[in-house]
Amino acid sequence: MSAAPGRIADGFRNAFGGHAPAVVVRAPGRVNLIGDHTDYHEGFALPAAIDREVQLAAAPRTDQILRVVSSVSDEPVNVELELGALAPTGRNRWHDYVAGTAWALAEAGHELGGADIAIGTDLPIGAGLSSSAAIEMGVARALCALGRIAWDTASMARVARRAENDYVGLGCGIMDQLAVGAGVAGHALLLDCRSLAVEPVALPSDLTIVVMDTGVRRSLAATEYDARRAGCDSALDAIRRRWPDVRTLRDADASQLEAVRGDLDPADRDAAYRRAAHVITENLRPTQLAAALDARDYAEAGRLVDASHASLRDLYEVSCPELDRITALARRTSGCYGARMTGGGFGGSAVALVASEASEAFAEDLSAAYDAAGPLTGSVFTCHTAGGVSVLESG
Ligand code: ADP
Ligand code: MG
Repeated sequence: MSAAPGRIADGFRNAFGGHAPAVVVRAPGRVNLIGDHTDYHEGFALPAAIDREVQLAAAPRTDQILRVVSSVSDEPVNVELELGALAPTGRNRWHDYVAGTAWALAEAGHELGGADIAIGTDLPIGAGLSSSAAIEMGVARALCALGRIAWDTASMARVARRAENDYVGLGCGIMDQLAVGAGVAGHALLLDCRSLAVEPVALPSDLTIVVMDTGVRRSLAATEYDARRAGCDSALDAIRRRWPDVRTLRDADASQLEAVRGDLDPADRDAAYRRAAHVITENLRPTQLAAALDARDYAEAGRLVDASHASLRDLYEVSCPELDRITALARRTSGCYGARMTGGGFGGSAVALVASEASEAFAEDLSAAYDAAGPLTGSVFTCHTAGGVSVLESG
């Protein structure tokens, strides 16, 4: 099932016996330009919604059943869910994201009716481009449109995050859901993950974002994520013993971390220090990159992006050989200002800031260079920024 609007409506008709959908919704993926592993410390991030998206066609039912068809594999896959019987599964099968979103909407006090939903996508899945947040926000948008439930981006991002954290059982901050919800074409988004304020930052047209999906999919992210959080928590506890006003690492600075270094448990002192050092320094970069983009200082933008990658690799330790290799090759390829892994890490995608006039050649040259040293199973593509989740057609 392709993601083209007409196609998803056709997919819906084929799946559900010929009648037309009542709404068609699109939900973009996102890249994060800088500020990774800061959102769950209530810090800053600078993502952008992109022109790869999940599309959903939906119609109401008179009962309390959700029938859902998706093109996650080559063949459409069906599932039937009873709204009244939904309860967290702690599993991450594709339909757990759909069910989890319906569950989280109900938990937030919204009354839902049954629906038929067809889902298609042209967003790489599991590539660190947030197909999970796109499906959550897309399902939420469709169910809200059908149920005439008022839409508020920040509240719905919270609902979608709850689906992923509490129903699917995967820890994550709110960056992905907020970026998918709040995207603005031509802009990155300076997110404050404490207040959920979103400030659009214009992306100059002579700068292009190139996505570099390594094709590597690793499942260790969930346990490693918990370990990174634990390291940060030890450092935060030590800081809070001296500065009780510090609520999260977002409120701490490098000198405070330095001051408590000796207080940290010797058994994991080095790891806790480095995890927190990443968060504290990375948390400054989104605002700095926004300022560099504003000033069109691409050398500075590239320096920040490269420094962020080094911090994720060396301090937070969430990169992997393939992400290190593709970003190193990108930096040596003509037109590139800077390159870094994007999203959670351990595989998935990296992102490069590239001079627009060189971007198509960059994508080709980089793919060839990567391929020469080992097969590139993912893809390299230029992208445009896009608006947030929206209703395309409503009957
Ligand atoms: P990412 O968000 O980086 O793409 P995740 O592992 O967080 O990776 O989420 C990927 C999961 O989201 C998939 O394994 C699948 O369960 C679900 N998903 C994403 N897109 C779709 C889709 N079009 N249809 C059904 N499920 C999807
Ligand atoms: Mg995800």
